[in-house]
Amino acid sequence: MNSQTNKNFPFRLVLAFIILFSTLNLIVTEPVIPILGFHGIIASKTPTSQFGEMNYPQQDIEKILEYLIRNNYWFLTTQDLYNFFLKKSKKLPNEYSNQKPIMISFDDGYKTVHTNLLPILSKLEKKYGKKIKVVLFINPGIMERQGSTSSTHLGCHELREGLKKGFYDIQSHGLNHKDLTILTRRELVKELQQAQIKLRRCTQDLDPQQQVASHLAYPYGAYNKKVQYYASKYYLSGYLYNNEVLNYGCLKNYYAISRIPINRQTLFQQTLEITEGFYQIKSQQKC
Ligand SMILES: [Zn+2]
Repeated sequence: MNSQTNKNFPFRLVLAFIILFSTLNLIVTEPVIPILGFHGIIASKTPTSQFGEMNYPQQDIEKILEYLIRNNYWFLTTQDLYNFFLKKSKKLPNEYSNQKPIMISFDDGYKTVHTNLLPILSKLEKKYGKKIKVVLFINPGIMERQGSTSSTHLGCHELREGLKKGFYDIQSHGLNHKDLTILTRRELVKELQQAQIKLRRCTQDLDPQQQVASHLAYPYGAYNKKVQYYASKYYLSGYLYNNEVLNYGCLKNYYAISRIPINRQTLFQQTLEITEGFYQIKSQQKC
């Protein structure tokens, strides 16, 4: 080392620490969380013609979930998001402090989630010793009418099975999947209140803290001030479908949580880019 290098050494050391610290800081504290919204999950051998826009291929979701497990993601429930990131009423447990939070949600209660996704969740748990929690936004009106006989929608029995195994976080999507913005006050209250009552009735003995149906996803992502006002009387938070990043550092309104819809056009690689991308665009986020 010459004397010039010697003189610069402490500065370089300090600079190295600053860079290291700011990098770590970005990873740990950046207030963005990807919330992905799926619908049905189609079995691997299904002909492409029967796919339907709202279904996602089983083999692709398995690859995504496996990637997320291996890359240190934390699969949030709606109550986790609320407690740790929105309200901040609970301190982040140490075991999660270096993990990247994500939420994986499924709307409308398709039976294919139970038949084609649940086995994957069990398989990955055995392989990695990590339980993936998924959020199901359910319409109990449709479930009651169709659940026991239909091959398309989940019934109470299946919800209970996934809840008992610890994989399902069961939340409300309104009673009958109506556009809440065009209802009368009486209809709106019925959609919100009855959905909660029926989901909790289905699960009450398994859910002593009544975390089931504490959060709402607006059908079609449709909401306005009136919907938010009545939602706040029954639910702790409300989820949109607006294709935007949730920047929880800026979020003042718990009834406007951003979600990204994932449909069959969103390929495996794109989904990962969306997910990882949240952790790279952090400092451009402005409140
Ligand atoms: Zn829906």
